[in-house]
Amino acid sequence: MSAYQEFHRRSIEQPDVFWGAEAQRIHWHKPCTQVLQYDNPPFRQWFAGGETNLCYNAVDRHLAARPDQAALIHVSSETGAEITYTYRQLHEEVSRFAAIMQAQGVGKGDRVLIYMPMIPEAVFAMLATVRLGAIHSVVFGGFASASLATRIEDAAPKLLVTADAGMRGGKVIAYKPLVDEAMELAGSAAPATVILVNRGLAEAPMMKPGRDLDYATLRQQHLDDRAEVVWVESNHPSYILYTSGTTGKPKGVQRDTGGYAVALASSMEYIYGGKPGETFFSTSDIGWVVGHSYIVYAPLICGMATLVYEGLPIRPDPGIWWQLVEKYRATVMFSAPTAIRVLKKQDPEWLHKYDLSSLRALFMAGEPLDEPTASWISEELKIPVLDNYWQTETGWPMLTVCNGVEALPTKLGSPGLPVYGYNVKLLDEATGEEVPAGEKGVIAVIPPLPPGCMSTVWGQDERFVNTYFSLFQDRKVYSSFDWGIRDADGYFTILGRTDDVINVAGHRLGTREIEEAVSGHSAIAEVAVVGVHDTLKGQVPQAFAVLRDPSVLKDPDKKAALEKEVIAKVASQLGAIANPARVYFVNQLPKTRSGKVLRRSIQALAEGRDPGDLTTLDDPSGLEQVREAVQS
Ligand code: ATP
Ligand code: MG
Repeated sequence: MSAYQEFHRRSIEQPDVFWGAEAQRIHWHKPCTQVLQYDNPPFRQWFAGGETNLCYNAVDRHLAARPDQAALIHVSSETGAEITYTYRQLHEEVSRFAAIMQAQGVGKGDRVLIYMPMIPEAVFAMLATVRLGAIHSVVFGGFASASLATRIEDAAPKLLVTADAGMRGGKVIAYKPLVDEAMELAGSAAPATVILVNRGLAEAPMMKPGRDLDYATLRQQHLDDRAEVVWVESNHPSYILYTSGTTGKPKGVQRDTGGYAVALASSMEYIYGGKPGETFFSTSDIGWVVGHSYIVYAPLICGMATLVYEGLPIRPDPGIWWQLVEKYRATVMFSAPTAIRVLKKQDPEWLHKYDLSSLRALFMAGEPLDEPTASWISEELKIPVLDNYWQTETGWPMLTVCNGVEALPTKLGSPGLPVYGYNVKLLDEATGEEVPAGEKGVIAVIPPLPPGCMSTVWGQDERFVNTYFSLFQDRKVYSSFDWGIRDADGYFTILGRTDDVINVAGHRLGTREIEEAVSGHSAIAEVAVVGVHDTLKGQVPQAFAVLRDPSVLKDPDKKAALEKEVIAKVASQLGAIANPARVYFVNQLPKTRSGKVLRRSIQALAEGRDPGDLTTLDDPSGLEQVREAVQS
């Protein structure tokens, strides 16, 4: 047995011993009475009876050892803003913001909705909320007012924190009118108070007297006020966060406090290898789980500096990320395949202009990391690129290679092995039995879920049980709703979502398998494959591909030839059964705001149906292109 296997086995067989030791990584105001309380499955409580505070662990705890070290580095390539806050300064801003919230009546258990661009105040607001034992619900800045309204209704917040505007690609997106609309839509669930950080980007925002307060004014009024930490029981909710909505209506994930802090702290050593005093650069957004865990909480809990970046990866030029790595000596980076595919279309020289010697590893999550993208970026950077498979629900990785425990090899196209704490199994969808290596199954976790994973669906315990634990009638396991396969060494490959599985004449294919084959063709930059109803075969795959060089499309002959070539390539790789019936070429794929391909909407259009819930859709033109393609 490898050292890692042994480590993993211990975490599963003796969870209380394992996590009891891990709990020592954080500060407890009061130690727990029971490491794992599991008398009401599938609900479980980690570190029951213990008292702690996320903000204390992320900020206050570092004041003694590293007050003058960088804690939060903010860079906006949109506005040109660049500022570093030390731990002492961060503590001051956060405890003052908490005092401001307190003065507005926010206390333990109250919800605070945060609808903000990537600016320091967004992070201050998150930390200030949990400092008071209140619960944040961060909504991705720029989400349409209807999406914001449903999240307001769900959380019924006491306070909403926003900014006048965000900026993306040089374009100002005014937030305040969207907030006003959402407040209107939310009716009685709308909070009594809105705090607005005015960046001076949008035209003077309309301020509703008695409701809307200006942050700079409040900050001045409360200059010397500081709010004390409110200790909470380990299972007290720290936040609500919605899933990306790729498969339908987003779910409001509720996270605890102590278990989350412990899981993040341990992951920094065993998975990311980040050390106190170093800089962690996650290119995500605070609106997503990667932002919560690896922009805000994990780096700070571990005494690192976190780089908070507002902007695109290619503006002002495609070297911007690497320039920041050089300047701030980032040691660990976290990004998403969708962003790397954007960089891959640029001149690779941008990667070689800067001194990247500080960088030890790049982590990726969010979508399947296709082999061409993975090998391109790891060859260019010459550092390990590690794929992390996880979900908003889990809060931290479920599958990866834990280099901090044992340096096991990585395999292209595979995130790796079950992470310690997760008893991951591949199960047969019909029987619920474990499938052998080499066979496809549903990725499931045998409960109890480890620390850090969701406690429940906010306000809907039944939905938690019915959504995640009801795949099999008599086997109460957590289903990820993803499909995978495991090789003889135990390495997993994600094949796509169970909803998207394509059933051709009784053969079940993951979207990923066909997508990998299509994107192996050198002309293809990106592709989505969906199963489309077929009277004869049940379903046939159809591919929607973005070309590296779209000029090919102007020539109908070349286009037809390319379609044939791609189909032939899939046939040679996977056999005729997987052959896409059609390959449509588009300039853009419809994606969620978090950068995930909306296959369910592509499929619906291809079958002539309504595209469904589009509240999380990013740019509608991607969907229009699919509509035009299938109608042509
Ligand atoms: P919803 O649950 O609302 O439909 P979503 O599943 O896209 O949306 P997230 O929690 O943001 O919401 O994404 C988690 C999902 O992303 C996983 O279940 C999986 O399908 C996909 N995913 C994440 N990381 C990886 C990865 N490394 N490889 C393959 N797929 C991944
Ligand atoms: Mg999901």
